[in-house]
Amino acid sequence: MSTVPDAQGHFGPYGGRFVPETLMHPLQELEAEYSRAQLDPEFQEELDYYLREFCGRPTPLYFAERLTRELGGARIYLKREDLLHTGAHKINNCLGQGLLARRMGKSRVIAETGAGQHGVATATVAAMFGLECVVYMGVVDCERQALNVERMKMLGAEVVPVRAGQQTLKEAINEAMRDWVTHIRNTHYILGTVYGAHPYPLMVRNFQRVIGDEARRQILEKTRRLPDLLVACVGGGSNAMGLFYPFLNDASVRMVGVEAGGEGILPNRHAARFQGGSLGVLQGTCSYLLQDEQGQIQLTHSVSAGLDYAAVGPEHAWLRDRRRVEYTYAKDDAALDAFHRLARAEGIIPALESAHAIAEVIRCAPAMAPDQVILVNLSGRGDKDVSQVAARQRGSGAA
Ligand SMILES: *Cc1c(COP(=O)(O)O)cnc(C)c1O
Repeated sequence: MSTVPDAQGHFGPYGGRFVPETLMHPLQELEAEYSRAQLDPEFQEELDYYLREFCGRPTPLYFAERLTRELGGARIYLKREDLLHTGAHKINNCLGQGLLARRMGKSRVIAETGAGQHGVATATVAAMFGLECVVYMGVVDCERQALNVERMKMLGAEVVPVRAGQQTLKEAINEAMRDWVTHIRNTHYILGTVYGAHPYPLMVRNFQRVIGDEARRQILEKTRRLPDLLVACVGGGSNAMGLFYPFLNDASVRMVGVEAGGEGILPNRHAARFQGGSLGVLQGTCSYLLQDEQGQIQLTHSVSAGLDYAAVGPEHAWLRDRRRVEYTYAKDDAALDAFHRLARAEGIIPALESAHAIAEVIRCAPAMAPDQVILVNLSGRGDKDVSQVAARQRGSGAA
């Protein structure tokens, strides 16, 4: 797997660098600095230090005993990324890129955010390193995720509401790229997932692979064998790539990525790019997109804001073509059922994104043998979703 991506950032026919001329230079500068950092033991030491002391790594690999018993099949292990500082895996990547920004002498970081989780993680790291921070967020998302807007502000970040288009994540990314072009000298753009122009998909995957590296070691310690199945939800795809990557050469390990099926696979009602998506270029990279015949990006829907995006990371598209990873989807209703099920059975309220992965586990564990092992990534905690789920239960809040 070491030759993927190639030097231009291609994962087979996917990936690459589709940006205006003005962004070529900062991307090359970032790529060069990242390459140097990878070879620098001091950088790795610093990263390990902050991951441990500030973020709370390693996260536990927890045997979900009651859920396993209820489902009556494979043994289920949860990788507890929900226990990290700020409540999700996003901080792994923000910390890495924050350290890079500091190495490059950049005093200012910017980010896009949809649900606000990446914005909060970026604002957190910026505060910790004393960097100026600006986060772009669609107006609709600002309203839906008011708590995270307040968190970012308390951490000292400026939150810029974006009014263009659908006023959600896609427009926020456009605005962040525009800012980057005009403030290249002192600014680093912390992109939040395995998406965008090279080197982001490669770099973010490498910052997230700590999830899979730990999980592989932990499952071998606990069960003396490799898992039969890995499961993770797929928005842009960073928590899934982070878990899957260190297992790619283990042929006996099946892997399933779970996209957001929304209200079903109908136009504009879901965000399952591998169900009805097609090849296209969006925001710097070539991958699977939900688009119409004219190439217009389609509306998407998911109960979970973090999975609600029209494109998926290029490495996922390549892994799917090669049949190394399978991709399925969970609908809103199944994710909500899984949300409640995990809360009741294990005392853990998952993020609605992670609940999509749990839904797939609930679907497939009963058909597996009791000596088989499922390892699922619990990418984040559900505090941010509690009021939305409660409103839906009262029947007053259509997501
Ligand atoms: C943002 C987010 C996701 C989706 O992003 P990926 O890049 O696909 O991992 C999943 N889970 C949680 C908890 C998130 O905050």
